[in-house]
Amino acid sequence: MIKTLRFWIMLLISFTMIGILSITLFSGYYVTKQNLINNSLEINRVYSMKLAQLSEEVFGGMQSNLQIKASEMSAEIDNPEKLSEKLADLISSSKNFNSLSIVDREGVVLATSPEIGIVGKKLATEGPTEALRERKPLISKPYKAATGRLLILVSTPLWSEKNEYLGFLSGTIYLQQDNIIHDILDEHFSTDGSYVWVVDTSGMLIYHPDAKRIGETISENEVNLKIQRHESGAQQVTNSEGKKFLAGYTYIKSSKWGVVSQTPFEASIKPLSGMVYKMLLYAFPFVVFFFLLTIILTEKLSSPLRKLAMLSARLKESGGQIECNDIPTWYFEAKQLNATIHEYAQSQQQKVEDYKERSYTDPLTGLKNRRYGEEITTKWIMEKKQFSVIMIDIDHFKAVNDKYGHHIGDEVLKFLSGKMNEIVRDDDVCIRLGGEEFVVLLAETNIQEAMIIAERLRTNVASMLCPTNDYMTISSGVGSYHNHNETIEDFFNRVDKALYQAKMEGRNKVVQSEG
Ligand code: GH3
Ligand code: MG
Ligand code: MG
Repeated sequence: MIKTLRFWIMLLISFTMIGILSITLFSGYYVTKQNLINNSLEINRVYSMKLAQLSEEVFGGMQSNLQIKASEMSAEIDNPEKLSEKLADLISSSKNFNSLSIVDREGVVLATSPEIGIVGKKLATEGPTEALRERKPLISKPYKAATGRLLILVSTPLWSEKNEYLGFLSGTIYLQQDNIIHDILDEHFSTDGSYVWVVDTSGMLIYHPDAKRIGETISENEVNLKIQRHESGAQQVTNSEGKKFLAGYTYIKSSKWGVVSQTPFEASIKPLSGMVYKMLLYAFPFVVFFFLLTIILTEKLSSPLRKLAMLSARLKESGGQIECNDIPTWYFEAKQLNATIHEYAQSQQQKVEDYKERSYTDPLTGLKNRRYGEEITTKWIMEKKQFSVIMIDIDHFKAVNDKYGHHIGDEVLKFLSGKMNEIVRDDDVCIRLGGEEFVVLLAETNIQEAMIIAERLRTNVASMLCPTNDYMTISSGVGSYHNHNETIEDFFNRVDKALYQAKMEGRNKVVQSEG
C-alpha cells in the first residue's frame, strides 16, 4: 500500500532523532572517556612529581644530617668506641637509616650501629668503593652488600682539621626491609588498584608494593625507558602482567631515580559504566516531548495536502461539484494547490452549466426547447402547481417559406419568439416545440388569465409587419392544468385539439380547451 506524506515525514524525523541521539550519546561517551583518561594521567603525573619532591627533600635532609655529624666523627676517628656511641646516638635520633657506619680511607669499617658484624672488615662492594673514590656526598645505586642485603648507601666524606681525607660516614637503606622509602610511599596505596613504584636509571626496582619484586630489573617497560632517558611525563602503559595502566612519572635528578604513579585503565574510566543508560534516561522525557511535537506538527503540515488530495479525488467523481472551505492553507504549496483546484472546479462547474443551458435551448430562437418544457411541467405537476399553456402554430407558414425562402422563414420564427418574450411575465416560459410550433407555459395562471395573454399575443402579432414585410397570423389552443389525475400527455393532446379547432375555425384565432 502506498504510504502517506505524513508517514514519510514521521519516518524522516524519527531517523533524524535517532541519528542525533546516537551521535550525542557517542560523542558524550567519547569526550567523557577522553577527559577521564586525561584527568587520570594528569593526577598521576602531578602525584609522581609530588612524591619525587618529597623523596628529594627527605634524602636531602638525610645527607645534611650526615654532614652535620661529619666533623664530630672526624675528631674521634681514632677512637672506635666513641664512634660507636655517636653512631648509636645518631641512629636513635633519626629513623631514616637502617644502619650507620664509619669507614676509614682504606675501606675498613671502624664502627657501625647497630652491630652488624662487619667492624674491622674491608668493604669492596660497589657503594663504599664509589664513596672512597669520589670523596663527596653521594647516594649510591642499589647494590648487594657483603651481608647479601640489597641496599643504598648515603655517604658524606670525613676530613681532618688539616684537610686530610679520613674516610666516610654512611647510612644505609635496606631496600627489601622496612625503610624510609616505604614510609614515604606505602601509604599511597589505593583501593582502585593504583600504586607507586620507584626505579633507578639502570631499570632496577627500588620500591614496589610487591616487595618480592624489589631488586628486579625491568627493561621493556615503556615508562622505565623514558626514565632512563631522564624524562618526566604521563602516558598509557602496559605492565608486566599485560594490564593497561595510566601512568605519571618523574625523574629525580639528585638520586637519578624515577617515581611512577599509575592507575588501572579500567578504574580510571569506571565512571563511564552506566553513563549511556543515564543519558538515555535523562533524554527520554525530551525525546517523548519532541516526538509528540513532531506528531502534531506533522499532522499540521500534511493535513492540508491530504485534504487537497481527497478534494481533487472528489472533484473527478463529482464533475466539479465540490464544497470544502476548511482546508488550512498556511504554506505556499497548499495555498497554491487549493487555489488551482477551486479555480478548476469552478471552470468545470461553469462548463457543466453551459452544457445544460445549451441542452435546454433552441439555437435558432434562443427560446427553451421541448426537453426543458417537459422537465418544467413534470416539476410543476410534482409540486402540485396550477399552470396553463398556450400552444401556438403559425398560420400558412409553409407558404412563407415557399414565397420568401427558408431564411426569411427563420426570421419570422425569431420575430414571433421576440413577441412571445415581450408579452409573458418573468415566471412564464416560452418554448419552441419544433418547426413553427410554440408553447408558452404560464405558472400559477388560470384559464381566464391564459386566454387574455394568448389573445393579446395573437392581436399583437397580427397587428405588426413581420420580416416578410407583410402581416402574419397565429392560431392558439389554451388549456389549464388543474386536475392532477390527468396525465401530461392527455393534457397536451387536449390543448392540441383546441389549436386544431382554431385552425379549423379559420385561423388567427384562440380556442380554449375545456377540461
Ligand atoms: P397551417 O396554417 O395549417 O399551420 O399551415 P402551415 O403551412 O403552417 O402548415 P404546417 O404547420 O404543417 O407547416 C409547417 C411548415 O413549417 C413546414 C416547413 O416548411 C415549415 N418549417 C418547419 N420548421 C421550420 C424551420 O425551422 N424553418 C423554416 N423556415 N420553416 C420551417
Ligand atoms: Mg404546424
Ligand atoms: Mg402552421
